[in-house]
Amino acid sequence: MFVSNILVTGGAGYIGSHACKALKAAGYTPVTFDNLVTGWRDAVKFGPFEEGELSDRARLDAVFAQYQPAAVMHFAALSQVGEAMREPGRYWRNNVEGSLTLIEASVAAGCKRFVFSSTCATYGDHDNVVLDEDTVQLPLNAYGASKRAIEDMLRDFGASDGLESVIFRYFNVAGADPEAEVGEFHRPETHLVPLMLEAIDGKRDALTVFGTDYDTPDGTCIRDYVHVCDLVDAHVMGLKWLQDGRGSEVFNLGTGSGFSVMEVIEQSRAVTNRVVPYDIGPRRAGDATKLVSGSTRAARDLGWTPKRSTMTQMIEDAWRWHKTGQYEK
Ligand code: UDP
Repeated sequence: MFVSNILVTGGAGYIGSHACKALKAAGYTPVTFDNLVTGWRDAVKFGPFEEGELSDRARLDAVFAQYQPAAVMHFAALSQVGEAMREPGRYWRNNVEGSLTLIEASVAAGCKRFVFSSTCATYGDHDNVVLDEDTVQLPLNAYGASKRAIEDMLRDFGASDGLESVIFRYFNVAGADPEAEVGEFHRPETHLVPLMLEAIDGKRDALTVFGTDYDTPDGTCIRDYVHVCDLVDAHVMGLKWLQDGRGSEVFNLGTGSGFSVMEVIEQSRAVTNRVVPYDIGPRRAGDATKLVSGSTRAARDLGWTPKRSTMTQMIEDAWRWHKTGQYEK
């Protein structure tokens, strides 16, 4: 029997909700498992919803038994660098312990395919080093460290139980569903693009640029931005990769092009035709100077080609979504 249920942890969050839409379009049934701490009930539009904590093994066992998922897509995590610097314990407990419980429940249920949401924050700061999947991982904060630990965990359970995993190390995710059914909305918001759009729209006073004294051409941090729809397309491809028996693999997901914070501000001004109110603040602890993917593995082996990941398209889609005002209570 073809089992089409996919358990999507964090399916009520920004990336998870887009993944659910992509999974449904590809013929799967995404089953969202989310505690709604940072996710939104309104974002669960493409399949069943099961509320629960990753730390609740009995609840996970019941969900695995009910849906018999063919694979897990694991997005649920705390993911803010600033918060991770202030409260590392929450990151280790929630991300690492929660993932361990999930992996154990999954293996016990006989579900041995995992697509995992990891991050370029596992690399840390590398001067003039091309960041590919073999770059040594030296995270600067508990967020990156927790994700690296989960990667290790997946490899260990691969050796012990035959768990197969596709690990995606994301660079900076931006944009929104072009049909604006789902999009990016965090409370509190900490990410550059939505903060900027809220400032443009008068919903906050100004964006603060975190540091202008980095060793970059304009002094602000450089990131590699990838459209959320391209990112989740890769996840569906990763799932098929596992279902085709191609085994465990790690892929960077980035475009290879870097944009400074000031360049993102300038592009947002151009796309929205509005002034971007901003001021200059100190560096944010835990930020790397430059994170740009130097890998072509996802393109070469997975056949992944980003289609909407130009900065203009990402801001246009995010702006369209922003103007719908969804999830705002
Ligand atoms: N950033 C900023 N002001 C903000 C939020 C972010 O200058 O209010 C910068 C941040 O220092 C980084 C980039 O924007 O260089 C992207 O940050 P974000 O928090 O969106 O993603 P991260 O890089 O932490 O995954």
